[in-house]
Amino acid sequence: MTAEKHNFDAYAFSKRKDYDEAAIRAEFAKAVPLRTVVVYCYDPRATGIPNAVASEFGETFPGEVLLSETGDKAASTATVFEVVVAGGRAYDALRSITVAQHLFGIENVVIVHHSHCGATSFTADGIVEAHRHEHGADISDVYPRASICIGDYTESLQHDVRLVRESKGTPPHVDIYGYFYDIDTEQLTRVVHDPAPRD
Ligand SMILES: [Zn+2]
Repeated sequence: MTAEKHNFDAYAFSKRKDYDEAAIRAEFAKAVPLRTVVVYCYDPRATGIPNAVASEFGETFPGEVLLSETGDKAASTATVFEVVVAGGRAYDALRSITVAQHLFGIENVVIVHHSHCGATSFTADGIVEAHRHEHGADISDVYPRASICIGDYTESLQHDVRLVRESKGTPPHVDIYGYFYDIDTEQLTRVVHDPAPRD
């Protein structure tokens, strides 16, 4: 690997001379009114999902970027953030959920799996075997088996809602949902709802 030498320090909050981690965090929380993290597939046919979720929950997406007095992009009106990963499987989104809570605070996590998804076209055994054959590497213990593909939509949504709920990185106060999205009709169907435990 080669890397050109550059200095990007001016763009990093933590490199500022007056860096104050707690103060920066408070500024971030004010800059974005985030409420909902939506996890969905990177299939280009699925790009309507965040808008559909915003309508379903009465939220703002993509919203507008707001400028500072000096003209820099400083804030946003979006209340929905996207985590876009293969199949919309929650395993790939766990760290992003933790970070979203830390910086902005969240109330909902919405997992969406879509019709005719490529993740339903292969099996865990099939991809492990193909990778061994084509790339000479064993990935059988690299990813949890139940998170590799989608065999059954109801099961995959139930699995992912449970995975998010049981992750130590998920704040206990969030409501978690699993939806099926039809890419042709652009309709969402709620399959799972796991409300936060209230006391
Ligand atoms: Zn897909």
